[in-house]
Amino acid sequence: MNANKDFLKKGTTILTTKPFAYVLSSKYSRDRCDHCLRSGKLSKCSACQCVYYCNRSCQQDAWSIHKTECPKLKKVLPKVVPDMARLMTRIIIKLKQGGGEEMGYYSETSYRKFKDLMSHYSDIKKDKERMEHFMCLCGILNELFENEPMPSYVELTAIYGRICINSFNIFDLDMNSIGVGIYLAPSIIDHSCMPNAVATFEGPTITIRTIVDLPCLDWSQASSFSAKISYIDVLKTTKDRRMELQNSYYFWCNCKKCEQPELMAEAAMCPNKSCTHPCSPDTDTCTKCGTEFPEKFKDTFHEISDFTAYHLQSMKDMAYLDVSKVCLKKQEGVLHPLNIQHVQTLQSAFDSTISLQHWEEAESYAKRLTNGSLLYYGEVHPLTGILYLMIGKIQLYLGKPKQALEPLKRAKSILIITHEEKHTLVKEHLKPLLHQAIMEDF
Ligand SMILES: [Zn+2]
Ligand SMILES: [Zn+2]
Ligand SMILES: [Zn+2]
Ligand SMILES: [Zn+2]
Repeated sequence: MNANKDFLKKGTTILTTKPFAYVLSSKYSRDRCDHCLRSGKLSKCSACQCVYYCNRSCQQDAWSIHKTECPKLKKVLPKVVPDMARLMTRIIIKLKQGGGEEMGYYSETSYRKFKDLMSHYSDIKKDKERMEHFMCLCGILNELFENEPMPSYVELTAIYGRICINSFNIFDLDMNSIGVGIYLAPSIIDHSCMPNAVATFEGPTITIRTIVDLPCLDWSQASSFSAKISYIDVLKTTKDRRMELQNSYYFWCNCKKCEQPELMAEAAMCPNKSCTHPCSPDTDTCTKCGTEFPEKFKDTFHEISDFTAYHLQSMKDMAYLDVSKVCLKKQEGVLHPLNIQHVQTLQSAFDSTISLQHWEEAESYAKRLTNGSLLYYGEVHPLTGILYLMIGKIQLYLGKPKQALEPLKRAKSILIITHEEKHTLVKEHLKPLLHQAIMEDF
């Protein structure tokens, strides 16, 4: 056998590293350790009363940065410092301690320092919304640093830009964003809406793993063998993805997925119930089976699409079951089952049933969601794996171990690639569920 030694099988870890700087989202400050981000029994920092730790060891490890941050947080109490201002504060403290020399290696010989991260300085300066946000942050930083020396305005703008362009949301096991961090080496990885790698987290430690087989790995940018992750949630139309990437990262995406025609994402359902063809809402007949659309179908389609868009936007931060249900009812027979708005609505219905703990309904929405997840995220994706895990978990809870076995096995086949075998999600969550399903089914 003459195996190519550069060949990377899917599920290969290509980078794993601790953050250069990070913060736990203030939303979770009482529920999670400020250092390792785990939840559990916590004790407060007695000096500032703002941050919590699991134990002395976490507190000690966090102390090199927190000792400088602590009196600042205390000084502005009862005001809570916004996450972004806290991240900037930590970066300023770290740079003052010589952190600018820290090297994040992405190969044996190549590394990046904080100053190597792109700041998109001129784009940021022209971005009205971001400059307003930045000015507001400067106000908070002035208050925190009062009479201490601070980086110049230009330097601060560059730090702000580097955060905007390079920060990663840190996710917990269920893929909820619990914080934000700067990672030196991983920041070199470019974006694709059809990525060949994903980032997962264990506490604040990031791991980048391949999700497809790669003939080799080339770190030079623009190489077709370079690793690519998605900077955004890809459950969006090409137009929306491109707009979000342009607004947040200042580039126009020309990835393979963005260049492909998008038949399914905006598809209408064929009036012939036995036909599954994704129809264009702007034609008069189905190009596959020839069935004619009813009069004014086009108007109905666009009306329902606008209605859905409006409600999905209003549910951006919080999904509501009744609203999701009204949208789903209206979409019936009009939007194709794999139309992206329909999939997004199923997602919000599922999320709301989970928070309401309506398990029977949650199971049914999750099952309806799988095809959309497979289409838009792909089979080997953390969110698809977690969806199968949730289905199995709910079915076990509902006393259906026989049914639970299949989705749990499927979750395992995905998550050992995206997260690897020894990740907490696989070891402490998935495997015990699988074991339970096998035992109860026996
Ligand atoms: Zn801890
Ligand atoms: Zn403190
Ligand atoms: Zn793209
Ligand atoms: Zn048809």
